[in-house]
Amino acid sequence: MIYLDHHATTPIDPCVVDAMLPWLQTQFGNPHSHTHALGRDAADACDSALAKIAIQLSSQPESIVVTSGATESNNLAIEGVARHPRQRRRHLITVATEHPSVLDPIARLGDEGFRVTVLPVRLQSDPDCGQVDLDLLRRTVDDDTALVSIMWANNEIGTIQPMAEISKIVHDAGALLHCDATQAVGRLPINLKEFDIDLLTASAHKFYGPKGIGLLAIGNQRRVRIRPLFVGGGQQHGLRSGTMNPAGVIGMAEAIERCQATMVADAARQQLLRERLWTKIQDAFSDVQINGPETAGGLFPEARLYNNLNFSFADVEGETMMAAASGLAVSSGSACSSTDPRPSHVLMAIGLSESRARRSLRFGLGRFTTDADIQDAVQLLIAARQRIFRTGG
Ligand code: PMP
Repeated sequence: MIYLDHHATTPIDPCVVDAMLPWLQTQFGNPHSHTHALGRDAADACDSALAKIAIQLSSQPESIVVTSGATESNNLAIEGVARHPRQRRRHLITVATEHPSVLDPIARLGDEGFRVTVLPVRLQSDPDCGQVDLDLLRRTVDDDTALVSIMWANNEIGTIQPMAEISKIVHDAGALLHCDATQAVGRLPINLKEFDIDLLTASAHKFYGPKGIGLLAIGNQRRVRIRPLFVGGGQQHGLRSGTMNPAGVIGMAEAIERCQATMVADAARQQLLRERLWTKIQDAFSDVQINGPETAGGLFPEARLYNNLNFSFADVEGETMMAAASGLAVSSGSACSSTDPRPSHVLMAIGLSESRARRSLRFGLGRFTTDADIQDAVQLLIAARQRIFRTGG
């Protein structure tokens, strides 16, 4: 299997497994049990893992809430801010291309009486396709806006949002900024302080860590008040009750440190491979069209994640190609909507026709992707298309 679906998930790095193993075997203490050494050891290990994570994000260990992943973190940020007892503001803003774990909690709050604005994004004809229009954001955010939720990098078309400018606009209006950085953490330099992000979501399995663990980093403790989703034992300063998962937190810390150490080299290599893939696709198939921002950028390009490629074939649906190329793991749309028959809401939001959206494929390259994977992937696609047209589609 050639795995080019790293936006859906990444393989766990062997060094992460090694770091986790003791905490799944002999070191099984509950980190909230302070009455014996097993518990205290687990607590110390969790604390040092949180300290490592905080350094990578330019945050503080006590500002990191450990969750089950990005879906929980997004829900906690949005529901937590909107439903805080001292929250007086009733307006929430987000963007049409967000993940459902942002769009759905905001829609539910809309059903319950919050005013909701879902901003459009720049269309495919624009080189910065998928970015939010900053003037429109400035005109939309007002003194009743409680929260603006905008993702750092898009999981389907790789668009990177201008977070520093967005942050300034949001804070000038006295609102809070939540950023779903699920696709950005481990791939781009993230600095909560520099970008002045109030709430930041990440999920370890997107950066070579384990599944079922993520975080919500809180940027400015004095400004941000959130109501917990879970109440109970009062762990994590009352923000997320429940026994912490030491192996998960330790794995997440190891994974994020590893990403940071190899980020620049990984970025350069993956971008080169992505460009090679796109060139080969264009050579092999006539009239393919790129979806999302232009790909030709420097290192850490402004507009597109370096490991992302999304394009549409001229004459065959993405689903049909994937069924015919069974040795290739890619996707059309995101993993959580891969059973949904509707075309991707992200591709529709950048103005593609339903037909073109259905002819799309999404590739996500990763740390272990090789040049041979790229060559083989293109060969598999060529063979798949030949099979489809030989058998009459
Ligand atoms: N946000 C984004 C941008 C994502 O790509 C994903 C995963 N597809 C999520 C949120 C949800 O992540 P998780 O499944 O880890 O909760």
